[in-house]
Amino acid sequence: MSRHSSDPACIFCKIVAGEIPSSKLLETDDAIAFLDINPVNHGHLLVIPKGHAANLAELSDDQAAHVGSLLPRLSRAVRAATGADGFNVVVNSGRVAGQTVDHCHFHIIPRRDGDPVHWPWPHTPYQGDELARVKSRIEAELRRGCAVNRPCVPISHKNPCLPPCIASRRVATSRARSRHPMVDMGSRARASDRR
Ligand code: 5GP
Ligand code: ZN
Repeated sequence: MSRHSSDPACIFCKIVAGEIPSSKLLETDDAIAFLDINPVNHGHLLVIPKGHAANLAELSDDQAAHVGSLLPRLSRAVRAATGADGFNVVVNSGRVAGQTVDHCHFHIIPRRDGDPVHWPWPHTPYQGDELARVKSRIEAELRRGCAVNRPCVPISHKNPCLPPCIASRRVATSRARSRHPMVDMGSRARASDRR
């Protein structure tokens, strides 16, 4: 039996299990990359964790780190193989963001000058104190919990909130702590508390 979690209704879990065919390009113990069946441009591929996770927010730190580690290599191969001028890496999460398959996947889409793909996102500058308010709301959420689906202890000097991949390996050295963005944020929060 596979050690990866699986959803019997999920088409990408079926691809992982080999129950439906795919044009597989790369396989590791925990991830696969394969061509998108209905590409934006030729060479458009998908990289997925083998374990079922509905979207990016549901990925464990280890899954994200592993899938992320494959992106540069795959992007270089796609760019070279297609003669692309560049590429987009896209992760749609949720219907509103265009996700149609509920197993987290990273698109690598090769791009050429003059191709028919458009990226027409409207940008609107913040007004007044909107930026500061949005920033503090997100910071509060980050302080509340540093891992999805896992309550997190409050950040303090004695008990810094480390991601599970670091904590489980028992390598929570001061170097690891100082690298973790949540700890940096904790330090900043404490500094601002003192003001
Ligand atoms: P989303 O819209 O969820 O971000 O992207 C889903 C992608 O999966 C689409 O680009 C779609 O073409 C691709 N896709 C859907 N079903 C299959 C399939 O059975 N095999 C492959 N290779 N790609 C698929
Ligand atoms: Zn799945």
